[in-house]
Amino acid sequence: TSWFSHVEPAAKDPILGVTEAFLADPSPDKVNVGVGAYRDDNGKPVVLDCVREAEGRIAGNLNMEYLPMGGSNKMVEESLKLAYGEDSEFLKDKRVAAVQSLSGTGACRLFADFQKRFLPDSQIYIPVPTWANHHNIWRDARVPQRSFHYYHPETKGLDFAALMDDVKNAPNGSFFLLHACAHNPTGVDPSEEQWREISYQFKVKNHFPFFDMAYQGFASGDPERDAKAIRIFLEDGHLIGCAQSYAKNMGLYGQRVGCLSILCEDELQAVAVKSQLQQIARPMYSNPPVHGSLIVSIILSDPELKSQWLKEVKGMADRIISMRSTLRQNLEKLGSPLSWEHITNQIGMFCYSGLTPEQVDRLTNDFHIYMTRNGRISMAGVTTGNVGYLANAIHEVTK
Ligand code: PMP
Repeated sequence: TSWFSHVEPAAKDPILGVTEAFLADPSPDKVNVGVGAYRDDNGKPVVLDCVREAEGRIAGNLNMEYLPMGGSNKMVEESLKLAYGEDSEFLKDKRVAAVQSLSGTGACRLFADFQKRFLPDSQIYIPVPTWANHHNIWRDARVPQRSFHYYHPETKGLDFAALMDDVKNAPNGSFFLLHACAHNPTGVDPSEEQWREISYQFKVKNHFPFFDMAYQGFASGDPERDAKAIRIFLEDGHLIGCAQSYAKNMGLYGQRVGCLSILCEDELQAVAVKSQLQQIARPMYSNPPVHGSLIVSIILSDPELKSQWLKEVKGMADRIISMRSTLRQNLEKLGSPLSWEHITNQIGMFCYSGLTPEQVDRLTNDFHIYMTRNGRISMAGVTTGNVGYLANAIHEVTK
């Protein structure tokens, strides 16, 4: 008998499946706006100059010893400054428990496991829609999921009233997953004023905000500005959790480097929480990988490399912002009677276009344009060379 005869093939990942189909298409016109990875204006993957420089400094000088269970202390320290602010009193008071994580996904998973272990009766409120993997992560950590309103299909913006109602109606002391900036997949973020209201209501309800910050710097081009939501919650005296990723903002996708932090009531609590995060990591992967974390700590601790990084992040964000305007202008020039304002209102890597699954199918079948069926366009895949073709195709399928 076979041990595994009952194992059925897993459902295809909706995002990775798009790339497979794209690669299999022989058409010279094909365009991939499915995958959430930055491309330059020639559609090529990018390694930042600051990363190449840091790699050069590492080459030949690195031993291959293990990092501690919690990863590189230096990388973690620099990451916390980015998220909480260079002069954060919480960092001075050592109130933040933090460990290096396997990028943003690993940070979310570590937090979900921590939540299950120490607050076994808690649930997590997740926005509709969200990055699909959030559902998998909290499912596998066995934390029950609830949803809260976020996106308004008609306005293609934030459904703020419904969001606030859900925050008010959730049981006191609920856990909420918030995208710190550049919400995936919608590209819709609350305004500063709205964040303040959300924070106020969280205070009233004693909710716990867990920020997934996968795109710090990628939204506005400025990591400080993109940390605004977190800073507002900190000012208001919340305890928070935060998942950071260097996949997008440093282009370190495959290096799997990130940070999970939890702001605690005092130093003693932070020491306890950190030790427990390490205990959760130990049987899963013992300790995180060294190379990517060195790249990050070298860049962030060297003023020259850091300012070079800031320029390069801004360059990536600016290219995306300019492609948004060009795409919108092209659609308007073609005489599309529909409103495409949301393309430029939305922020970050994605445009939640409002295209229906059937329209997406037509884009793929008739025009060799690949994206997820929810109509999410990865703006990072749009270039000077393909934006006209893309606009024309979108116009054709929305006529
Ligand atoms: N959260 C969100 C919202 C994301 O979009 C992503 C990247 N697609 C991640 C987390 C994590 O990505 P990574 O594990 O590569 O850092």
